[in-house]
Amino acid sequence: MAEGSNYDYLFKVVLIGDSGVGKSNLLSRFTRNEFNLESKSTIGVEFATRSINVDGKTVKAQIWDTAGQERYRAITSAYYRGAVGALLVYDIAKHQTFENVIRWLKELRDHADQNIVIMLVGNKSDLKHLRAVPTDEARGFSTENGLSFIETSALDASNVESAFQNILTEIYRIVSSKSLESSGDVIRPSGGETILVAPTADDGGAKQKSNCCA
Ligand code: GDP
Ligand code: MG
Repeated sequence: MAEGSNYDYLFKVVLIGDSGVGKSNLLSRFTRNEFNLESKSTIGVEFATRSINVDGKTVKAQIWDTAGQERYRAITSAYYRGAVGALLVYDIAKHQTFENVIRWLKELRDHADQNIVIMLVGNKSDLKHLRAVPTDEARGFSTENGLSFIETSALDASNVESAFQNILTEIYRIVSSKSLESSGDVIRPSGGETILVAPTADDGGAKQKSNCCA
């Protein structure tokens, strides 16, 4: 048993955004500390995991990557099912990938849980001389749309840890405060079905680990 089930919370987080913005490399940087110069679509892996400590709890992140379906706008709703967080990635050197963030937000509205925590991630911050999206423009957009925001570089690793740490902490705070609420009289968020900690079908046994939203 490599990892066992040694965790307090399991959170599914999805990576979305245009093809080529660096989603797969953000994932490999965070979970394996690896970076790949050639762009190759993800093969064989649906998700990778890594556990981190948040407020003294072990939070296991199950981070889903696309296998290149975003090129054909063909991401299925199974990809979003049970996700409690989304890293919406664009490339700071390609303005079009930032303009398309609107489309990705709509995609989330249509397919993901309404309470999903969304962090906008401007990747490739190392490409300073090619910057096409000013930090302030992206930050302003994030504020207007209620998103968290960070700039990262999967290449030089800057802010990659922080991006994941921040979104997992944000999710953890929401989930743990909801568990507190539900230990008294249960107050459900409006809109009915809300999945806060949602193991996937192939993640046998994980469900019992979360003390939320059964
Ligand atoms: P995806 O299609 O969103 O999964 O993007 P990939 O992770 O496959 O990356 C696409 C291309 O961008 C590859 O050539 C990567 O080497 C490159 N890339 C990814 N992240 C960075 C980064 O932070 N900085 C730079 N300069 N290149 C990056
Ligand atoms: Mg990829």
